[in-house]
Amino acid sequence: MPAPPATRTFVVANQKGGVGKTTTSVNLAAGLALGGLSVLLIDLDPQGNASTALGVDHSPGTPGTYEVLIGGAAIESHVVPSTEAPHLMVLPASIDLAGAEIELVSVVARENRLLRALRTYLADHHVDYVFFDCPPSLGLLTLNALVAATEILIPIQCEYYALEGVSQLMRTINLVKGELNPDLRLSTVLLTMFDARTRLAAQVAAEVRTHFADETLPTVIPRSVRISEAPSYGQTVLTYHPDSAGAVSYLRAAQEIAVRAADLTPTTPSTNGAPR
Ligand code: ATP
Ligand code: MG
Repeated sequence: MPAPPATRTFVVANQKGGVGKTTTSVNLAAGLALGGLSVLLIDLDPQGNASTALGVDHSPGTPGTYEVLIGGAAIESHVVPSTEAPHLMVLPASIDLAGAEIELVSVVARENRLLRALRTYLADHHVDYVFFDCPPSLGLLTLNALVAATEILIPIQCEYYALEGVSQLMRTINLVKGELNPDLRLSTVLLTMFDARTRLAAQVAAEVRTHFADETLPTVIPRSVRISEAPSYGQTVLTYHPDSAGAVSYLRAAQEIAVRAADLTPTTPSTNGAPR
């Protein structure tokens, strides 16, 4: 897959629970890594589901995102390689991270912790893609990701109330953009858990494509048992059942994201004194 001109950082967010954030984060991260790119996934959810799916230990006490955000540890000290693909590194989240949402409140520059840690890491390591898997809330953990990233990827489940909460998310994104991170933009929407047998799924997909015409990827992720089984084997669907429809569609989505990047110009701040 083509490498982007500069590191692309994606926050995978939707405060609605169970829409496929984690499944999307791990399968896109693995897909790009299997495509030869260098990928870092940062697990920001105390449930640690992304760590599980990437075959990485996250039992209580395992150092990871908590130590970086609260303890000021370097990402480099706690990243571990995933068993899923070469060049795929993971910063795991353990249940310890559950306290971080509260503890961060009293920390200095609390919304910049992740950004600073990531900048330090990227100065020494070549990474093509960074994914932040966020919890289903718009608290300080998600805020740290919104400040550290430049692109937002919203997974939308093809079910009732699909767009419920998306307008709240868009308001939060615009607030963060205005106050904390002018480089942030919604670049990608991915339709997940599409059930081709129902008219509802097609209606939801059409509605999302109307709202987010440029952002929505052509590929849709089907509802698939293989996708939901994979994490219990500590795997992504890409290695669990590479020929399944779910694996093929996640790989295609990763390809679409990578190819879009080829058209992008570098997003690193220009040095020509352009106002920000
Ligand atoms: P949370 O808000 O709790 O973090 P989430 O948005 O990260 O949830 P996932 O954990 O990715 O959502 O998915 C929710 C559930 O749906 C999981 O059990 C997952 O295995 C299953 N799932 C995700 N995508 C699919 C799919 N395309 N087909 C079938 N099951 C899926
Ligand atoms: Mg999740």
